[in-house]
Amino acid sequence: LLVGCWISVANAEYKAYQDPKQAVMKRVKDLLSKMTLEEKIGQMTQIDRLVASADVLKKYYIGSVLSGGGSVPSRKASPETWVDMVNGFQKGSLSTRLKIPMLYGIDAVHGHNNVYRATIFPHNVGIGATRDPQLAKRIGTATALEVRATGIPYVFAPCVAVCRDPRWGRCFESYSEDPKLVRAMTEIIPGLQGEIPSNSPKAVPFVAGQQKVVACAKHYVGDGGTTRGRNENNTLASRHDLLGIHMAPYYNAIIKGVASVMVSYSSWNGVKMHTNRDLITGFLKNTLHFRGFVISDWQGIDRITSPPHLNYTYSILAGVGAGIDMIMVPYDYKEFITGLTSLVKRKFIPMSRIDDAVARILRVKFTMGLFEHPLADYSMAKYLGSQEHRELAREAVRKSLVLLKNGGSADEPLIPLPKRASKILVAGTHADNIGCQCGGWTIEWQGLSGNNITPGTTILSGIKNTVNPKTRVVFQENPDSAYVKANKFSYAIVVVGEPPYAETFGDSTNLTLPHPGPSIITNVCASVRCVVVLVTGRPVVIQPYLTQMNALVAAWLPGTEGQGVADVLFGDYGFSGKLPRTWFKTVDQLPMNVGDRHYDPLFPFGYGLTTHPAKAK
Ligand code: BGC
Repeated sequence: LLVGCWISVANAEYKAYQDPKQAVMKRVKDLLSKMTLEEKIGQMTQIDRLVASADVLKKYYIGSVLSGGGSVPSRKASPETWVDMVNGFQKGSLSTRLKIPMLYGIDAVHGHNNVYRATIFPHNVGIGATRDPQLAKRIGTATALEVRATGIPYVFAPCVAVCRDPRWGRCFESYSEDPKLVRAMTEIIPGLQGEIPSNSPKAVPFVAGQQKVVACAKHYVGDGGTTRGRNENNTLASRHDLLGIHMAPYYNAIIKGVASVMVSYSSWNGVKMHTNRDLITGFLKNTLHFRGFVISDWQGIDRITSPPHLNYTYSILAGVGAGIDMIMVPYDYKEFITGLTSLVKRKFIPMSRIDDAVARILRVKFTMGLFEHPLADYSMAKYLGSQEHRELAREAVRKSLVLLKNGGSADEPLIPLPKRASKILVAGTHADNIGCQCGGWTIEWQGLSGNNITPGTTILSGIKNTVNPKTRVVFQENPDSAYVKANKFSYAIVVVGEPPYAETFGDSTNLTLPHPGPSIITNVCASVRCVVVLVTGRPVVIQPYLTQMNALVAAWLPGTEGQGVADVLFGDYGFSGKLPRTWFKTVDQLPMNVGDRHYDPLFPFGYGLTTHPAKAK
């Protein structure tokens, strides 16, 4: 009798979904069958950390929390502080009836970019220039470790936009204008999530354990094709072009097991992507067999109407009805929960749609081992900004640099620069500025200018570390021409570019090289042989100044490891980067992409001079 009692108690407690030995889909089914509507809708809700607390997570069964751009516990928060914060929220979820852990997400788009002391890799445009998908994968691996070091298991990356117009303020988040190149760079996904086992059925979301993170291919679809590159605007394209150009990276992302896809704010031929049932449910889920979850963009549901949340019930119906599974930051999560609940109760949204959404979210949570390991510890803190990751970032910088000019018909090549010289001039607003090197999405959403933002090496310090100890390096941010003339410099390095920006704030109609870049080039290059290094997220107007300079380098947004620039300028390594974008002559040529009929670039897609490593001079 005693034994019988014991068995019946054990049976009562056994829950298949809590048993890691059960198949994932069995666990999903079991858990789903136990959930109330309230618990299901909670899973579909993602709120910002600013409004989150253990109590809120518990009360509303919230499925996910995020740090939006720059939403951090404190500017210099340590990995341990992050872990404590995430765990604190998680304890709320673990104290619910079914103990379903929440999933914490963050934008880690070029390394763990919100976190002080993290390694900041070049933005995607620079990675596109390397033409090295394996490098992208290694960056994914390093990023996953740094993100996990802070107790976070989910990143909103990679951005697989195919930017067709550099006037777009997010162009630097795009690997290339060329769909094939963007597609190749989805190799970052197995770096982030782990390599999908060869025996696993295709299109299954895959995250390999506690050193990997859930990735998110974004923004589905056509974000890089909007008219005149206006952010969140309309992409006018035939279905043929949409599928051939903008959809291309998604095929590969899904084959590599990407566990989530984020919907784009933009519209396709006038229809908001957040309402596009045909492309989300029809194409992504049914045709491409994507089995992960679809997440909205930040308040993307609200922005279905203009002005936002004009008719919130309609927006929820249109978005969830289109196939969005998780709602990133409804402007008022309580109103969202009430609205969706009533839409389901009134049968505007069928229960099967809710079950599809929740099953997808749970599937990812089970696959990644979140139920078994919901709480992080401090053991991975050592990875944040580690020397090994900084070396990798420095390698990425070296490979991303594109040499666009080096001397000319009547002019000797200037690169590689001699390390031994009596006196050299380093000039420009971007020579000694970690913030500008990193660009947007670094520490703050819009990025920050200056050297205090996070530890790293500026291009200037890289130069100082590299030249012969006897060479005098003079730095002048904005020298006047008389000064330059009066000094007998052996040569000059001018580093200028764009200030940091993100999203709509980076939209430009003229793409001019920002002030005082042009005058610095003129003042310096008129009197001394000079190389101009551009620190920009995209091609800018450079043709008018091209004859003034002896050499020109596109350094993109290299991140914290500015030493990589000096490594190549002085010939410790050769130049190998190739343009991931067409460099236009004048802005009225745009949009102009490789393969276009009237292609008349200043430097074509794929251009880039090579140099060999130099003998020490
Ligand atoms: C951006 C996304 C980002 C999200 C969360 C949005 O404004 O479009 O790319 O992942 O914010 O920060």
